[in-house]
Amino acid sequence: MGYVESLFSLNKKLVILTGGAGILASTMAKGLAKAGASIILLDINEESLQRQVSELRFIKSDVEGYVCNVLNENDVQRISDTICKQHSTIDILINAAGGNTQRSTIGIDKTVFDLTVDDHKQAFDLNFWGTVIPTLVFGKQMAKQRRGSIINISSMASFRTISRVMGYSAAKAAVDNFTRWMAVELAKKFGNGIRVNAIAPGFLITEQNRALLINPDGSPTKRGNDVLAMTPFKRFGDPEELIGTVLWLASDASSFVTGTVIPIDGGFSINSGV
Ligand code: NAD
Repeated sequence: MGYVESLFSLNKKLVILTGGAGILASTMAKGLAKAGASIILLDINEESLQRQVSELRFIKSDVEGYVCNVLNENDVQRISDTICKQHSTIDILINAAGGNTQRSTIGIDKTVFDLTVDDHKQAFDLNFWGTVIPTLVFGKQMAKQRRGSIINISSMASFRTISRVMGYSAAKAAVDNFTRWMAVELAKKFGNGIRVNAIAPGFLITEQNRALLINPDGSPTKRGNDVLAMTPFKRFGDPEELIGTVLWLASDASSFVTGTVIPIDGGFSINSGV
């Protein structure tokens, strides 16, 4: 294998994806499997987990799935112990469990004062602690190995104010801060083989948000038009457009890159609109 091919190769690398049955994680997992990686999906939803494991096995045979609640430290630790008995290293962790929750979303005709602190906390805890807990558990193994790449998932809600999702936005901003903090902590104490970065997906069309952004006739909704007006590329993204950046961050091709939050957004986050 030549130098350039070896930079991007994920052959014999083990990748763990939390929220692995979700739309973005399963899309990333397909790209990683095609690049040669072995895949372990963790998800709280057993039925969709089994479905995604079966689909991925069409691409690559070494795919495993574990039912896991990322907010339960004992659960994550127990699974980490099992994985470490069967695999010599954990090379890549992608923290993709997350998303906004219905309870934490401010209703169209409501204000921030109509939700309780616990309502806001639900999305905050899932997106922030749901990233921190697996990072501490699997990152400890990477620290022992002195090698590993951790990829967190941020959001446009961290860069700019997006209405109705206060707890989610605060959590994603905290994920960005944690990404930088852990990058420095792990590099200073365990060397330059461990890197921590984040991607910030822009407005990608998925089954969950399609109706919010696109009308049945294919034209953008009012919200969809507002997003497109702020997006220099004048289009929505496709989940598959995350794969290239993820392969780069996961592999040695980004060996001098740590602590970054990379928008994949057609320019939404850097546009002033003027
Ligand atoms: P998704 O709902 O399709 O996937 C999330 C997965 O996490 C689900 O399979 C769910 O079962 C799992 N999950 C939920 N709670 C869990 C828990 N406690 N423990 C373990 N698993 C749990 O969402 P998605 O769109 O694929 O989003 C993945 C990540 O990307 C989230 O962090 C989300 O905030 C972020 N993100 C998504 C978009 C987008 O356009 N879809 C944009 C920006 C950021």
